[in-house]
Amino acid sequence: MHKHLTCACGHMIHADSDDEMVRKAQEHMKMAHGKTITRDDVLKMAKEAKH
Ligand SMILES: [Zn+2]
Ligand SMILES: [Zn+2]
Repeated sequence: MHKHLTCACGHMIHADSDDEMVRKAQEHMKMAHGKTITRDDVLKMAKEAKH
């Protein structure tokens, strides 16, 4: 299932699995914002996408 997560900064993350989304979102939050985000929070914010 493809999912998108749009960060507050406008950066969009694409992923094809929950694990990939969590990894990419955590990496973005840390690298771009110096923040850590939990797996639950990532999955709450991620939305199913079709393209
Ligand atoms: Zn961001
Ligand atoms: Zn996508």
